[in-house]
Amino acid sequence: MKNSTIRYQVRLADPAGHRFAITLTIPRPEPGGQILRLPAWIPGSYLIRDFARQIESLLVFDADGPVGCHKTDSHTWQCAPAQGRLTVEYTVYAWDLSVRGAHFDESHAFFNGSSLFLAVVGQEDQPCLLDLCPPGHTDRWRVFTSLPEAEGEPGAAARHGFGCYRAPDHDALLDHPVEMGTPQCVSFEAHGTQHELVFTGVVPGLDLARIAQDVQKICQAQIEFFEPETRQAPFLDSASRYVFLVMVTADGYGGLEHRASTALITSRADLPTTGQPEPEDYKRFLGLVSHEYFHTWHVKRIKPAAFAPYCLDRPNFTRLLWVFEGFTSYYDDLMLLRAGVIDEPAYFGLLARTMDGVLRGAGRHKQSVAESSFDAWTRYYKQDENSPNALVSYYTKGALVALGLDLEIRQRTADRHSLDDVMRLLWKRHGRGFYDHPPQGVPETAMQGLILEATGVDVSDFIARHVDGREDVPLKDALARTGITLEASPADQRPDLDVRTHNDAGGVRLATVYEHGPAHLAGLSAGDLLIAIDGLRVTSDTALKQLLASHRPGDRVVVHVFRRDELRRYRVQLASARALKHRLRRVDGPPA
Ligand code: ZN
Repeated sequence: MKNSTIRYQVRLADPAGHRFAITLTIPRPEPGGQILRLPAWIPGSYLIRDFARQIESLLVFDADGPVGCHKTDSHTWQCAPAQGRLTVEYTVYAWDLSVRGAHFDESHAFFNGSSLFLAVVGQEDQPCLLDLCPPGHTDRWRVFTSLPEAEGEPGAAARHGFGCYRAPDHDALLDHPVEMGTPQCVSFEAHGTQHELVFTGVVPGLDLARIAQDVQKICQAQIEFFEPETRQAPFLDSASRYVFLVMVTADGYGGLEHRASTALITSRADLPTTGQPEPEDYKRFLGLVSHEYFHTWHVKRIKPAAFAPYCLDRPNFTRLLWVFEGFTSYYDDLMLLRAGVIDEPAYFGLLARTMDGVLRGAGRHKQSVAESSFDAWTRYYKQDENSPNALVSYYTKGALVALGLDLEIRQRTADRHSLDDVMRLLWKRHGRGFYDHPPQGVPETAMQGLILEATGVDVSDFIARHVDGREDVPLKDALARTGITLEASPADQRPDLDVRTHNDAGGVRLATVYEHGPAHLAGLSAGDLLIAIDGLRVTSDTALKQLLASHRPGDRVVVHVFRRDELRRYRVQLASARALKHRLRRVDGPPA
């Protein structure tokens, strides 16, 4: 251990109370008073989360005893001047079962470093050691992380063991989440590199072999995509293995990317079990895996210049999330097709669902994907009942922008080039070797130039209209030129209110009232509890559909709702359903 190495010890102190106890040892603190800071947000999830609010107590000591310490903002502590080595002891409450935080009980412990590890300000580039202490209540737990074991150090962990792990700097320490417990695991190799799939949560009969087989194909396809010649995995600059940490719950869905791992949360019903038919939404899980793995290149190494480096105490603004999340959302499903884990009709189904979502709300006419990227912190990540009317998603519209660009490049180069060439140039120029010799991030206005360089195609008009502008991406003709028919028809033949609902005790709650739809024009609001139509009780979403089915567009109905606790009556003129259902099929293929 170098004498400047910063050491973090994590004790699994209180599983019942969900508390980690952390001891931070700083060999050479700033003599005039060390500053300590916890990140306010976690990279990949663009919202100020104030993780420091979960620190319950914090005490600082030097060789002579307690050292004064006070907070200077929500996530920063100022220590008093002190002599020699400092020890900081604090507890962190961990009861957030998400991919972004920390969670600990008697069954398992999971954390992101951004919830646990105070930065020693001014020494963020110093090497760190992480000492994970085994729990007191069981000896069956093992450790799963891409963080390298501290080989050669006293107390170095064995693979999957408690003990010492190592990070070259604080940024790396934050970027390898850790799972501890007794999960179901399987490992495989992709182009010679080790990958582990780790499932926490109760899943009887989980078909690990099936999942490993499919995920291996996805990983191999992506490695071949970015490195067709060397077939070298991207994470070898940071770790010897890639780890998928999957939390299984009744209805969870989400993921967060890291440099050599990902934390995922998935629904139990999406996972295959031995001897049972494949679940309909298994491809949703595979899509999530594909998405987060793609980020190993695109976001974790190829980054916006605004993220190189991240400033973790305030929002970092970029107009490029349509490239980083949008292109990733395009390639995640496409990689399932290229890897052979889904067929073309299934891929078309996924693409159609993306189109259904993007073309549903009026928000796409009010916000461009560049604006949506910039406002991620306060708008996309703070969605409310009005969001479909006010926002566009840089994920889903970004995916359609990627498809539109791909089709345009292919058409204008007679299929000699595609968006793949753009991704490989991004990787070569801005990604490869990021953690060895950090290259520059992607400048805010660089994409047109990079696309021109990679393909010879000038897409400035496309970018002006569909990225900086708010026009829908014109896909029908572009797809037709490749032999794919795109059709859009009303999702429902029955008239409707043009609302999004969920069932609630005593009626149907309006979750979103779509702008310019019948409910909006009549005065109904999100939050209203719809209880009757023409005097007949509405007990569920299904009952609402049945009641509307006896009407025609243009009919007027009387709707009773509770707004808060007040009964109100509205006259609504019904209209044709405006939600569209898209279908794609090969001209010479079977109908989808
Ligand atoms: Zn993503």
